[in-house]
Amino acid sequence: MNDTLFGKIIRREIPATIVYEDDEVLGFKDIAPQAPVHVLFIPKAVHVPTLNDLKTDQAALVGRLVLAAAEYARTEGFAENGYRVVMNCREDAGQTVYHIHLHLLAGATLGRFGAPGG
Ligand code: AMP
Repeated sequence: MNDTLFGKIIRREIPATIVYEDDEVLGFKDIAPQAPVHVLFIPKAVHVPTLNDLKTDQAALVGRLVLAAAEYARTEGFAENGYRVVMNCREDAGQTVYHIHLHLLAGATLGRFGAPGG
């Protein structure tokens, strides 16, 4: 059972602005966008809390998240300008929802990242 916030979004128990869906992946707008475009892509049927929990036979799931983001970028017309995808894993990366998700950030020249406290 996926009792996370994103599980509730998958089951349509709480609202979200859904912008992408295929057989395995749901994409919806982040409620606190960090860029003009900020969409989260999550697996619908498989609950994996963090990247640490991903099994070898689930590797394709991450590929599906990336492909969904790339398709969304193409259809929305910003693929050529570019975009960033990020997956946060646990506390030091600031993960707050424990159902794996891919952040897609775009629509502006993005700053660098990764510095402690940055
Ligand atoms: P992370 O910090 O990597 O775990 O990302 C979780 C993301 O979920 C954050 O960027 C939040 O802004 C976003 N978020 C939290 N609640 C909601 C919600 N109800 N709808 C959409 N995005 C949300």
